[in-house]
Amino acid sequence: MKKLLPTSTAGSLPKPAWLAEPEKLWSPWKLQDAELAEGKQDALLLSLQEQQHAGIDIVSDGEQTRQHFVTTFIEHLSGVDFDQRETVRIRNRYDASVPTVVGAVSRPKPVFVDDARFLRQQTKQPIKWALPGPMTMIDTLYDSHYKSREKLAWEFAKILNQEARELEAAGVDIIQFDEPAFNVFFDEVNDWGVATLEKAIEGLKCETAVHICYGYGIKANTDWKKTLGSEWRQYEEAFPKLQKSSIDIVSLECHNSKVPMDLIELIRGKKVMVGAIDVASHIIETPEEVANTLRKALQFVDADKLYPSTNCGMAPLPRRVANGKLNALSAGAEIVRREILSKS
Ligand SMILES: [Zn+2]
Repeated sequence: MKKLLPTSTAGSLPKPAWLAEPEKLWSPWKLQDAELAEGKQDALLLSLQEQQHAGIDIVSDGEQTRQHFVTTFIEHLSGVDFDQRETVRIRNRYDASVPTVVGAVSRPKPVFVDDARFLRQQTKQPIKWALPGPMTMIDTLYDSHYKSREKLAWEFAKILNQEARELEAAGVDIIQFDEPAFNVFFDEVNDWGVATLEKAIEGLKCETAVHICYGYGIKANTDWKKTLGSEWRQYEEAFPKLQKSSIDIVSLECHNSKVPMDLIELIRGKKVMVGAIDVASHIIETPEEVANTLRKALQFVDADKLYPSTNCGMAPLPRRVANGKLNALSAGAEIVRREILSKS
């Protein structure tokens, strides 16, 4: 990106109410078959337009074609039985009924490549595409085949790499892997989490990002956050290894969070997508609040490596609120951009 402080979102944006029930995760589709396929494309166009109207620089599909950031990808793979369900604890936080890995996993055909190609046709702006990371994928499944979290993560990393290479060929500029699990399983992150992530980005020439957050603004996550104490130092565990990794960008939750901003120093040299929008609140930030968070981050990341963003996806928020937050992000970034340019 040549533009200073290019803005983007961490991922999902609300879907229109005619496509899926609003303000809900795993919201069922309201359309079927050919109408659903067309509805998803229309929603993608709307989401793109809303980002453009808000002045977002790096745009995305707003995850309009997927029900959930992990589940939808896994649904397209073979080796996973969605009818055979087991209850597991997701990221040590809440119980969920999840599908079972019953055989060798593989990707019979591309998952999001057609959607990415469609988005590419609509805009000349840089586009970012989100995929789940290997560690977060295994944490959303019951495994009765490999019986090893590490082995399954390596298999998913290979599959993700296939998908990522095709997304790159479709014209995606930044491929992002969502790894909220990096904030929970510290030993595994260092043993094989970052290594499997590097496998997923192997051979890519486009830019790559990892998004590590404290989750959507849902109750299970906000309750968990209350147990984390006055300082959230989880990033400290994965950052040293990520700093040495080949990943280009690290996307973080910063605004209204108890993450000490100086932890960003540990990934010096990386580009940092700084979350300057709280996705767990319906209150729309003022541009000045956004600017304040960005100014704090600038103490620890060079201006040419700072990418203003949201803390996480905004799928569970009302559309009006999400759009307000996109506008605030743009306006806040513009305040700081002007400050930097007036000094140089
Ligand atoms: Zn997130």
